[in-house]
Amino acid sequence: MKHLIILCLLVIGCKGNSQKKTTDKYKVSKAEAEWKAQLSDQEYYVLRKSGTERAFTSPLNKHYEKGIYVCKACETPLFKSDHKYDSGSGWPSFDREIKGNVAFSTDYKIGYARTEEHCATCGSHLGHVFNDGPRDTTGKRHCINGIALKFIPKS
Ligand code: FE
Repeated sequence: MKHLIILCLLVIGCKGNSQKKTTDKYKVSKAEAEWKAQLSDQEYYVLRKSGTERAFTSPLNKHYEKGIYVCKACETPLFKSDHKYDSGSGWPSFDREIKGNVAFSTDYKIGYARTEEHCATCGSHLGHVFNDGPRDTTGKRHCINGIALKFIPKS
């Protein structure tokens, strides 16, 4: 009897996993309730509902310590401090992302096309990319919600 129960649990467990693999778009995928439990209300609103934090409210806006910025939801490295600059917009800004770890889409939320960016590992929303970045480097301005990031110092 005991063995039968264990066997049943194994079968159910495997089935759950294989279903997950075929339907999930992202390597890290969680139910809404799980994200809600893991993140604060404000983090959930920005990362999972594509919200925007108020300008000049992030402690990371004018933060220039050496290190990397990882996804608040899944800790994938997304940006390097070497590529951070002060855009004056009120949001943490970078002239480039860590290639392959950030994915892009087009959003028409405010009436015209903007390039939205999100974590390539978990799909969480990060911000938008604009073409008014530093001309001497990439010309790109990755305008990122500070609340979507976690800073890891180099040391
Ligand atoms: Fe992520």
